[in-house]
Amino acid sequence: MLYHIYVLIRLNDRMMNLGQIIDVKGIVEKRKEALKLKIDKLNDRNIVPKLAVILASFDEASKIYVGKKKRLCEEFKILQEEYIYDENVTEDELLNLIDKLNNDDTVDGILIQLPLFKHLDEKKILNYIKPTKDVDGFHPVNLGNLVAGSKGIVSCTPKGIITILEDIGEDIKGKNAVVIGRSVIVGKSIAHLLLNKDATVTICHSKTKNLEYYTKNADILVVAVGIPKFIKSDIIKEGSVVIDVGINRVDGKVVGDVDTEDVLEKVKYVTSVPGGVGITTVLSLIENVADVASLR
Ligand code: NAP
Repeated sequence: MLYHIYVLIRLNDRMMNLGQIIDVKGIVEKRKEALKLKIDKLNDRNIVPKLAVILASFDEASKIYVGKKKRLCEEFKILQEEYIYDENVTEDELLNLIDKLNNDDTVDGILIQLPLFKHLDEKKILNYIKPTKDVDGFHPVNLGNLVAGSKGIVSCTPKGIITILEDIGEDIKGKNAVVIGRSVIVGKSIAHLLLNKDATVTICHSKTKNLEYYTKNADILVVAVGIPKFIKSDIIKEGSVVIDVGINRVDGKVVGDVDTEDVLEKVKYVTSVPGGVGITTVLSLIENVADVASLR
């Protein structure tokens, strides 16, 4: 009997102390409402935003992402042009297409789905997009604006992460933010966004020594590594906010870089995978297209 009471108290304690999985779906719904209003206003000005999507690879994940983007474009009545190529496409063909789209005033955003076929120079092709139409925010001009803290197009995943932190009311100013991963599209970009919002930012990577020294001091921990369940509760700070960017496929299931169940009793907030950062990324893209269109 006494033992049962003890177990109940312990269970109750654990439930009381559990952190929260952030309701990213709810956040996305709110952003969708705001976006709908923005697009209605554009339509009132006879502007229908248009996105051009270029797919030049047989990558299965890319096809899934392109499908998701297409469905969201339909939901928001954004026009979409798709350019799909096989492995015979040449760099010149793509550059000519981008040139045409750069000069087409009815096209607001150009998106090149990565990765491209191996024989194509990704950097050269991405850098050919007019920076004002680079809705992915990968062009050096947009990255430069991010580093300088100036206005520009912000890449989609980092933009989504900031909206999550803002929505849960996390005051970023003065916080210790640790980002694990230094890719341009996630790690470096989110690090600069956090820095621009006055966090004290540390970027960790595969050569970082004593990773847990940094993670244990992180008020905000962003994990973009690509290793399933890489982060567990023993190396995070009590009461922290953990943002899991990872998308990994394990035994046919999608899992993140954070062991969500394990960290839950230590964090204040954590995002889940699936249903976390990923669903904000595509929406950020559509928002970027609408923002570019509003400058027409
Ligand atoms: P990436 O380019 O492969 O970068 C991974 C980073 O992790 C690198 O900087 C690497 O360090 C670092 N790393 C690897 N092993 C490490 C270790 N043991 N300790 C510390 N750091 C380590 O990947 P990415 O494009 O940034 O993507 C990361 C993850 O996010 C992937 O799972 C990807 O699928 C996912 N993702 C999700 C979204 C979304 O919308 N949710 C968007 C983009 C990416 P080095 O630089 O030293 O190699």
